[in-house]
Amino acid sequence: MVTPEHLAKLVEGEAPMEAEEIEDAEMDCPECGENVISVGYMPSVTEFVTAYKCQECPWSDTDR
Ligand SMILES: [Zn+2]
Repeated sequence: MVTPEHLAKLVEGEAPMEAEEIEDAEMDCPECGENVISVGYMPSVTEFVTAYKCQECPWSDTDR
């Protein structure tokens, strides 16, 4: 079971200050077409980012 903090760290490369619940992004991965999950997190006090991560391949993206 992936935690929100771990998922955010996978995408960001560093552990976030805070992370919200993991959600289904309701989109398909542009690389492999599989399901994509999303997590909102705060990498710093002034920034809120939504990260997207494929469940099947290494693809990830953020809304920065
Ligand atoms: Zn994929």
